[in-house]
Amino acid sequence: MKFNRQTTLRAQASVAGVGVHSGLPVTLTLGPAPVDAGFIFVRTGLEGSDREVQATAEQVIATDFATVLGDRNGPLVSTAEHVLAALRGMGVDNATIEVDGPEVPIMDGSAAAFIAAIDQAGIVTQPAQRRLIQVLKPISVKIGDSFGEIRPHASGFRVEVEIDFSNPVIGQQSYAFDLNPEGFRREVGRARTFGLMCDVARLWSAGYALGASFDNTVVFDDERLLNAEGLRYADECARHKVLDVIGDLSLAGLPLLGAYRSVRGGHKLNHAVLTALLADRTAWRVVEGEAARRTARPVGEVGRGIVGGRIAAAFGPDVS
Ligand SMILES: [Zn+2]
Repeated sequence: MKFNRQTTLRAQASVAGVGVHSGLPVTLTLGPAPVDAGFIFVRTGLEGSDREVQATAEQVIATDFATVLGDRNGPLVSTAEHVLAALRGMGVDNATIEVDGPEVPIMDGSAAAFIAAIDQAGIVTQPAQRRLIQVLKPISVKIGDSFGEIRPHASGFRVEVEIDFSNPVIGQQSYAFDLNPEGFRREVGRARTFGLMCDVARLWSAGYALGASFDNTVVFDDERLLNAEGLRYADECARHKVLDVIGDLSLAGLPLLGAYRSVRGGHKLNHAVLTALLADRTAWRVVEGEAARRTARPVGEVGRGIVGGRIAAAFGPDVS
């Protein structure tokens, strides 16, 4: 496979499950998309015609418990982050993600089912150079005691996560990961969603987590892990945060060349850092070609309107 070319899926592949927040059954179908399309959610099963939403930072309308994408008519698809992480993590540039319900199915709480669907569909290269967003200077955001920063990095995309829970079973964990498909499959993609037992009742009363169970969430109380099958990794929580970062930062619309560090972060912090980066036209540029090689070259001057196509549309001023 030529890694400097854009990729998409060879065929369609579906997974079926329930939404972790809604508890509703949903089928998700991954499929091919043209060059420069990025990731496009297609919401079917609505009255009237299907609705599409581009998986970009400006379509994010909530980050409270999951990353929710929508448009001016309201939310379209919730819990977008794990399937997006699978696509970005496995090196897919362009894909459609069709869902027949309001939420991506949670499956086992990790990206494993989506990786399996990508394997089933197959990945093909497309006749166009891969385009990437190269970070040119550090951008940081502080929210309460959370801290996030994205900075230039010599090659590829690196994620560094630190978590620090007062819950003694989770406690402090850190994990660093240089994104590559095989590493993603082995080390990050299988890490599951986690939560605290004491939060579950609160979430239920707020109408969230209705589909949460031990089949899709790693649950802790103050003394122990409650899942009978145990952890997949000793630091599974930190690894899952890395998975979430890869999904949330895929909303840049293109793969990133840079290093992202998150301390006590979550979806809100990830979105805030990405938004701050994209808002500063001196902090990034679009390049073509393989990340790690010197062949990467700028596509045009940043902020001059030659960033082109969907990127300009995604990050340009709101003219509507
Ligand atoms: Zn997650």
